[in-house]
Parts: sequence; C-alpha cells; structure tokens
Amino acid sequence: MKVGCIREIKAQEFRVGLTPGAAQEVIANGHDVVIEAGAGVGSGYPDDDYRAVGAQIAPTAQAVFDLAEMIVKVKEPQPAERAMLRPGQVLFAYLHLAPDRAQTEDLIKSGATCIAFETVTDANRGLPLLAPMSEVAGKLAPQMGAWTLQKANGGRGVLMGGVPGVSPARVAVIGGGVVGTNAARVAAGMGADVVVLDRSVARLRYLDEVYAGQFRTLYSSSANLAEQIASADMVIGAVLIPGAAAPKLVTRAMLATMKPGAAIVDVAIDQGGCFETSHATTHQDPIFEVDGILHYCVANMPGAVARTSTQALGNATLPFVVALANKGWRQACRDDAHLRAGLNVHAGQITCPPVGEALGLPA
Ligand code: NAD
Repeated sequence: MKVGCIREIKAQEFRVGLTPGAAQEVIANGHDVVIEAGAGVGSGYPDDDYRAVGAQIAPTAQAVFDLAEMIVKVKEPQPAERAMLRPGQVLFAYLHLAPDRAQTEDLIKSGATCIAFETVTDANRGLPLLAPMSEVAGKLAPQMGAWTLQKANGGRGVLMGGVPGVSPARVAVIGGGVVGTNAARVAAGMGADVVVLDRSVARLRYLDEVYAGQFRTLYSSSANLAEQIASADMVIGAVLIPGAAAPKLVTRAMLATMKPGAAIVDVAIDQGGCFETSHATTHQDPIFEVDGILHYCVANMPGAVARTSTQALGNATLPFVVALANKGWRQACRDDAHLRAGLNVHAGQITCPPVGEALGLPA
C-alpha cells in the first residue's frame, strides 16, 4: 500500500502523523511511504530523515493525496484537505466529528473511509490513542502551573518544592485519571505537597496502593473540594465524564476562598473546563486573571512539546497503521474490534452511532 502523510496546516499544530521511525517500519512491512515536504519540521524531523529511511518526499499535500491510498495525519482535516480526499481513500487521524457538522458532511461527501484515533478502544475500556496526549498534558500541567505561580506572571511567588525550612507548594489535583495521575506524579516529584481528589473510590484505592508516600488521595465531595481549593497554591482540573461537558466543580464564588495569586491549570478545558471562570487560551497568551486567581487554560497543551507528543502518539498509532497497510482497512477492522470502533465514516455513511446521534444524521 502507498501510505501518505501531510504537513499539518491547523494553526499552532506542530505534530506530524508519521515519524521517520514509523515510516521505516511501514516500509519494512513492504509498503511505500510518501511525505509532504516539511511535514516533520515542526517536530524536529527534516525531510532528509525521511529520505534516509526510503520515504518519497512530495512537494505538496495535493501530490500526497494523489499518490497515497491511506493518509495518516494528526488533526482533523481542514476544509482544503477534505476537498482532496477521494472515494476509497483511507484517512486515519483525530476527527472529533460529534461537534463538527461541516467536517462530517464533507467526509460523507468525500466517499473516503475515515478512521478516528479518538474512538479506537482497547481491552481495558480505555482509549489508547487519546491516552498518550493525556499523559503529556498531565505531565506538563505542574510545569505550566509552576511558571504561572511565578511573581512576574502575577502569581503567588511560591516555589513548588520549597527549600529547607520553607514549606513546598500545596497542589490539589481534581480527577485522578490519566491526566491527574501524571500531574500528581510530576508535582510530587518537584517536591510539592500533593492531594488527588476523585469520585471513584476504586480509582482512589488504586492510586493509594501504587503511590502511597508520594501523594495523598481524597474523595471528591463538595466539602473536601472546598477545603482543598481554599488551601492550595495550585489547583489542576483533570476530570472527565465521558461524552459529557466537564462539570463546573469550582464556581466563581469559590475563587474568593483561594489564596491571592494561586494558580489554576484547567486541563479539562477541551471539554469546557471544570472551573466556572475558565475559558480556552493559546500558547501565545496562555494565562489570565479572575478575582486575583491566575488561570492557565490552553486547550492543546501537547502542542507545547510537539516532538515528545509526536513520538508518543506515533508509538500508539503505529501498530494500527501497519495493520491497516498490511491487511487493508476492511480486513484489519474485521480482525480487530478495537480498531473497528474507530471507523466513523465509510463510503458516504456515518458508521459511528454516537456521531450520528450527536448530529441528528443517519448512522
Ligand atoms: P480519565 O477518564 O482518565 O480521568 C478522568 C477522571 O475524572 C476519572 O478518574 C473520573 O473518576 C474523574 N472524575 C469524574 N468526575 C469527577 C469529580 N466530580 N470529581 C473528581 N474526579 C472526577 O480522563 P483523562 O484522560 O485524565 O482526561 C481528563 C481531561 O483532560 C479530559 O477532559 C481530557 O479531554 C482533557 N485533556 C486535555 C488536554 C489539553 O491539552 N488541555 C490534553 C489531554 C487531555
């Protein structure tokens, strides 16, 4: 099969769908790889790295679309990219179709077979192609929060780990899933005094067994939340209720109970955020202040570390890319129910019922 990868054109997107290492593995499986010139540069992979493993470099995205039977990319195709898709072509990328009618209609019109990273499942009821980005965002959250806490940014001027004779920062992490656990581990590693709050007692039990001594766990009742928010230097929002907007767990009134200059890092902002006062920000202008509390609410945090994110995503997608190339999409999806769960649109039809339901379209 001829597998293509194009340069991402969505604003602020520096990741790439195939690393040179991934291209090499696809080629070793007997396939051809064609990469748009400059596709890997944002992640630190010049064209020569792809040439060195035997990939072909094409001058434009159109040339890649013309040549490739399957396109692997990162973000949902933009309108100009959707116009280049053709019937029978396979697209493998993040799509997030449920809130995006225009994209869904274009993909239906294209006649292509569109497999979404975010709905591929695994045997543990997880989302293996979303988890790596949650790991990245979780590990970044204390780093960004620590920067937000610095005086020059309007923060409280507290050092995460303290120093001998001076207390460390107090960090409350709301939600102990993939983001929250990674955030808590890094914050604890920086020397902060960390507590993780979650609604799932089973999850708290697991965290307590594995991380006892590194951070504490606490049931996420409103009383416990209120107490932790009032005493924290940094609050990290990492809750998720699958398929729903994030619950607003911290109201504007609760900000008045917080320490002046405390930092909020609302990682759940991509689902609307779990603080009433949050709104999405960008890497260019990441923080804003409400009632004396600093908010960091960047909706695509992994973009800050594009190279790490590209590698982490590539590790997770590569086995599926190889299976799709080796077997063709039809057989690969027949053999693997988890990959089949990723099939969102095929030959003019929505094939993922939740997408159809969300948009009121037949599936
Ligand atoms: P996850 O499903 O692994 O974890 C979510 C946790 O929240 C679960 O343990 C759940 O029990 C807990 N929870 C639900 N309601 C709660 C409540 N009321 N109080 C406390 N805990 C509660 O999800 P995840 O992968 O960790 O993702 C968390 C959020 O981060 C999601 O909204 C995700 O989209 C987002 N995210 C954002 C970025 C970004 O760049 N901003 C990147 C990756 C992920």
